[in-house]
Amino acid sequence: MAVSLLMAILAYLGAVPAIAADFADIRSACWASGGLSDDLVAMARSDERWSCADREFSIDAERALLRFDLGPDGPLPRYFLSRRSALEAVHLLAIDQDGTVRQSTIPAAALSSSMVGGYFKASLPEVTRVTKQIVVAIDLPSHRMTLEKAYLASEDAAGDGAGASRLLVIVSALAGMLVMPLIFNAAFYQVLRKPFVLWHSALTLSLLMTLLVSSNISVVLFDPPAMTLSWMTTVIFGATVASGTMFTYSFIESGLMHPVLRRMLPYCAVWAIFLSALHAAFPFVARPVQSSAYTAAFAPILIVFILSMIDALRRGSRAAKFQTVGYTPMVFVGLTRLVTGVTPWFHSADAMLMFYAGCLCEVLFTTLGVADRFMTMKRERDRARTEAYLLERLSETDPLTGLFNRRAIERQFARLRVEGFDTLAVIDLDHFKAINDLNGHAVGDAVLKAVASAIEAGPDVVAYRLGGEEFVLFLRGEDAGIEAERRRQAIPAIVADRVPGLGRPVTASMGVARALDDEGFVKLYERADKLLYEAKSAGRNRTRTAVRSIAASGTLRGERATLA
Ligand code: GH3
Ligand code: MG
Ligand code: MG
Repeated sequence: MAVSLLMAILAYLGAVPAIAADFADIRSACWASGGLSDDLVAMARSDERWSCADREFSIDAERALLRFDLGPDGPLPRYFLSRRSALEAVHLLAIDQDGTVRQSTIPAAALSSSMVGGYFKASLPEVTRVTKQIVVAIDLPSHRMTLEKAYLASEDAAGDGAGASRLLVIVSALAGMLVMPLIFNAAFYQVLRKPFVLWHSALTLSLLMTLLVSSNISVVLFDPPAMTLSWMTTVIFGATVASGTMFTYSFIESGLMHPVLRRMLPYCAVWAIFLSALHAAFPFVARPVQSSAYTAAFAPILIVFILSMIDALRRGSRAAKFQTVGYTPMVFVGLTRLVTGVTPWFHSADAMLMFYAGCLCEVLFTTLGVADRFMTMKRERDRARTEAYLLERLSETDPLTGLFNRRAIERQFARLRVEGFDTLAVIDLDHFKAINDLNGHAVGDAVLKAVASAIEAGPDVVAYRLGGEEFVLFLRGEDAGIEAERRRQAIPAIVADRVPGLGRPVTASMGVARALDDEGFVKLYERADKLLYEAKSAGRNRTRTAVRSIAASGTLRGERATLA
């Protein structure tokens, strides 16, 4: 279902026309470079400084200039738009046919964001029908794309307002989808307190932020200054790479990635944060090579990441499969940007639509991976719990009768006391040795099983076999003693029914005591056992109790239950 959803979105994205420059936009005709102290008007007028044959822009000089030649018709341009990147200021000159120059300067901090995602815009000085050229000078440009992508337009997101708002809808929908994994993760984390859930949330959050700052959603919502978005894009990119590597570090199953690779991932995360923070805070330190150097400095991270994935896949990691599928479109985006960015015969392409689809794909498949892991871990945990429970149960169960054993009562005693169980009955079969001697051990065993079913547990009674032919009942409620006595008296009939041919009834003697406050099992048992001994001495097949209500009860057969 997720895959088909993704395909549908990709298909829709493919159908959306590119937003940037359409026929009404004016591309630069010539470019030049100079120093910050050069006179702009003089430069604009000296033809020999302009190169118009090629578009092989360079940002080596302190100032880059673009010249736009205006035709006799078509809508008059009002804005200069281009890709955001750090710069110091933009100077805009409108030059009329008679040589009149209108000039304005916009410092970087005052540049506003364009409705075209990732672009800034600057208002031109007044342009009229007699304006023949627009010259734009960019001080301290930091990225070649700012020159390559520059154009003049009569409107922000010129000519394709419908396209811009369609993109807005799509990107908003994508952003909405990215919120879902955050909600899932919050729920997962309640049950599964694993770091990879948190790292996945961090990754999703940074991709969500990426989507906001690189598309026009942020402009519609907050209209932030272009340079603010510029440094935020850089910092968020670092955070995305860092959380991505940390997610991989914590998500790949233990033992399914080479330990050296795994140990390198956190260093990659720190390196990514360091790089992006440095580049955002000091964009001009190594200008004009800084942008390329910055991009190149991510190469080791990419290599470690790819090696980790390959290694984990080779070792059969399930997590790596989800990650590989999720990251593949992003790898294509990266390759597109890299190839078009470094090879001169291609224009830099940022493959924005594929990038948005890549964000979604990444989040979708890593989320599926997290959900898959969640299910696996939950299954494993449930199985372990069941096993532990069964083992515990086994160690507390008497194999012959299926009743709890002595270990069980010692462990359950405190809890049962809290739950209101306060009456302990110790039952011992009379002359059981003789049954064994006359009928054999196997018949003796059958008798013990029959006794177990005679004294069976209920909601207010728990039955134990303490060993040999000695049983214990732990009871609660007003009628606790009476319940115990009823069970003792049921023994002969049930045994006779289950084990026929014994020749004489199998009876039992019983001692019953009620727990005093703070009395432990051992003390209580001692008292009950003493009463049992008294019952035996008094002739067997009877109950001795310290509990008055039992002695007084009509269910007891006359003198056989006597108040101790
Ligand atoms: P009393 O009325 O005094 O309790 O007489 P008794 O014969 O029951 O006395 P005693 O408690 O000494 O005998 C317990 C006998 O129970 C001894 C042993 O042969 C038998 N016994 C103990 N455990 C088992 C068992 O697991 N299976 C069988 N068949 N017999 C057992
Ligand atoms: Mg006995
Ligand atoms: Mg005994």
